[in-house]
Amino acid sequence: MAETRKPGKFYDVMIIGSGPSGWTAAIYAARANLKTLLFTGLVTGGTPGGQLMLTTEIENFPGFANGIMGPELMAQMREQAVRFGTDLVEDDVTRVDFSKRPLTAYIGEDDYEEAYHAKTVIVATGASALWLGLDSEERFRGRGVSSCATCDGAFFRNKEIAVIGGGDTAMEEATYLTQHASKVTIIHRREQLRASHIMQERARNNPKIAWALNNEIAEIVGDKTVNGVKLRNAQTGEESTLDVAGVFVAIGHRPNTEIFKGQLDMDESGYLTAKEHTASNVPGVFVAGDVRDHRYRQAITAAAEGCMAALDAQEYITGEIWTDWAIGEQSPAAAQPVGTTA
Ligand code: FAD
Ligand code: NAP
Repeated sequence: MAETRKPGKFYDVMIIGSGPSGWTAAIYAARANLKTLLFTGLVTGGTPGGQLMLTTEIENFPGFANGIMGPELMAQMREQAVRFGTDLVEDDVTRVDFSKRPLTAYIGEDDYEEAYHAKTVIVATGASALWLGLDSEERFRGRGVSSCATCDGAFFRNKEIAVIGGGDTAMEEATYLTQHASKVTIIHRREQLRASHIMQERARNNPKIAWALNNEIAEIVGDKTVNGVKLRNAQTGEESTLDVAGVFVAIGHRPNTEIFKGQLDMDESGYLTAKEHTASNVPGVFVAGDVRDHRYRQAITAAAEGCMAALDAQEYITGEIWTDWAIGEQSPAAAQPVGTTA
């Protein structure tokens, strides 16, 4: 790895991620007059704006009695964060160095690497869609295989398609896709669904939705584009074919934590773990949202954790921190003043 050419900009708070968690952290930090930088992400950890950019109507985020479209909600959060003075870097963080002060995040690579420094970092990198891992899935990705109904649904007007998965995402994608497709078959590997009752009922009451429960995907078949899926019954082993023009994979997510390996504590699935409140094992680094939470995984809980992390970062900077270990060996007061370069 080449040395970074020039010293980077210095902030009070750096936030990595532009989902509900990241934007909320930015609103709180910037509004508290902390010099705040947010990395929106670009490609490696999902979409700038986070998971809600890939969905349609959000009905359960308080304050929107008639619902709000996911991308519109994220645009509003961004505007609010920028209004209070949040600086933005519209790129992926490629590596971090939390081993010394100031804490450092890098964008780019090798000769094009650029460093940014801060007293505190809030990690809000969320999670990304999982894939089945079949060769045929890889081959037909973008040619009939998708993980984003709102992005690709319109390509399947009046066609028969399949949605894979049994969680809320699968129910939501399938319900949305009935606006375009003539028939949507939900394929799930078990009898029991993981989705919430309300989402299940909505799908079950939709006359355009059919079910292939207890079925695994053996292969996605087609020529230039998808024309079917080979199914294997999980109980009997019996094989069958379903003719579909599109396959939407909605089987969950993986936390975006690759760049923190070896520096931040994580569980066996790669989710970050907080030591106390939102504080990670590294003093001054806080974690928030779906990158840490694999239980609730909602926009409102991610936003709430972003708020908590910003308040914790603020306390850390002002020295009102709650435990000695969180201060670390070097007091944040020893770090450089806001607005100068490191
Ligand atoms: P995310 O939204 O995942 O955002 C993570 C951010 O981090 C992204 O901006 C990404 O670009 C960025 N990032 C990742 N890696 C890097 C990096 N290396 N450098 C810089 N940036 C990086 N919840 C609800 O409450 N209501 C709903 O109706 C609802 N609908 C949903 C529909 C779908 C299809 C999905 C998938 C989820 C839905 N959820 C819903 C769940 C909700 O979207 C998440 O709980 C929420 O978005 C989590 O927010 P987050 O900020 O923690 O992470
Ligand atoms: P999820 O709840 O983890 O469900 C994933 C589904 O995919 C499960 O049914 C799982 O099957 C199946 N699956 C996983 N790996 C598979 C594989 N290799 N092959 C076949 N099937 C596989 O994920 P999610 O649906 O994305 O939801 C994530 C979170 O976001 C949840 O907390 C959810 O509530 C939230 N969310 C909320 C809304 C809303 O409120 N409107 C909408 C979308 C998402 P098993 O059940 O057999 O493990």
